[in-house]
Amino acid sequence: MEARGVNKHYRQTRFLTSAAKLKQAPPDEGWEIAFAGRSNAGKSSAINALCDQKALARTSRTPGRTQLLNFFELDPQRRLVDLPGYGYAKVSEDVKRDWQGTLADYLQNRDCLRGLVLVMDARHPLKPYDLQMLAWANQIELPVHVLLTKADKLNRQESGRSLERVEEALREYSRDFSGQLFSATKRWGLEEAHAHLDSWFELDLSGEDNPVQAGQ
Ligand code: GDP
Repeated sequence: MEARGVNKHYRQTRFLTSAAKLKQAPPDEGWEIAFAGRSNAGKSSAINALCDQKALARTSRTPGRTQLLNFFELDPQRRLVDLPGYGYAKVSEDVKRDWQGTLADYLQNRDCLRGLVLVMDARHPLKPYDLQMLAWANQIELPVHVLLTKADKLNRQESGRSLERVEEALREYSRDFSGQLFSATKRWGLEEAHAHLDSWFELDLSGEDNPVQAGQ
């Protein structure tokens, strides 16, 4: 249940711009939260569910935006950034290296970046890509929140085991790393995920953003 008016904040999220290089990104100010995940992990679906929109982030099956940093704005100071996922597209090693360079550039040099949401398929967590992202984030002291998505495809025991395994791995890194179960399809875990985003965005729930939404 999303009783807080803050949900309104995510619902008004709009696509802002794409950038192939960091220098094409919007001005480095305000707050940014990045989303990363292996292709097909469920990243686009997670962004859409969190923003309560059907087609905000395109799914990876649609070619186009996937090689770029995609910026979505909640308000002029707060943005979600969909990071490129490679693996799906049939591209040369050179192009992959290029993407990786842009990704590293973004993660290391973006001052307004407050946290990374790392989306993993709850059935197949902690793949090499995920471990690399965790190691990078750890190195630059960037907080990470893992969404173990597609939890609806597991039974309670299996999803519990998956979360335990991931939490154990996260403890090896930093106190700023956390994880939760999630399902975009069933809309599970939205409130917990929003709470993390709210705190990174420094969204004040006690202020003007807090009228209880009718029908929520
Ligand atoms: P992306 O490549 O990480 O952006 O992944 P997508 O969001 O495009 O999702 C990949 C596939 O997984 C699509 O067929 C989605 O419908 C499906 N999917 C995504 N999230 C969920 C979920 O929570 N539950 C289930 N059952 N399927 C999901």
